[in-house]
Amino acid sequence: MDREIESAPKAPEPAIEETGDVGTGGDRIRCPYCKWSPAAHDRWTCDCRHSWNTFDTGGVCPKCLLQWMHTQCPNCLQWSAHSAWYPQD
Ligand SMILES: [Zn+2]
Ligand SMILES: [Zn+2]
Repeated sequence: MDREIESAPKAPEPAIEETGDVGTGGDRIRCPYCKWSPAAHDRWTCDCRHSWNTFDTGGVCPKCLLQWMHTQCPNCLQWSAHSAWYPQD
């Protein structure tokens, strides 16, 4: 009785390829003007003087809940729509 057909679980092996091809990915938040990309430690300051990473909250100050429709780039100092920072097709 050799009906021991094992249905081996075929786990898809994640192909981890380090191509060093950074920059073509679609989900980087960037300044629409200079393409500067914010890091986790970057901070923006609200009118209420609270400072936080505005991209953590989609432009909403966690302290006073003000929705920032525009975000200033700390690199080129241009203001642009918060939504324009997110990748779009
Ligand atoms: Zn605030
Ligand atoms: Zn910029």
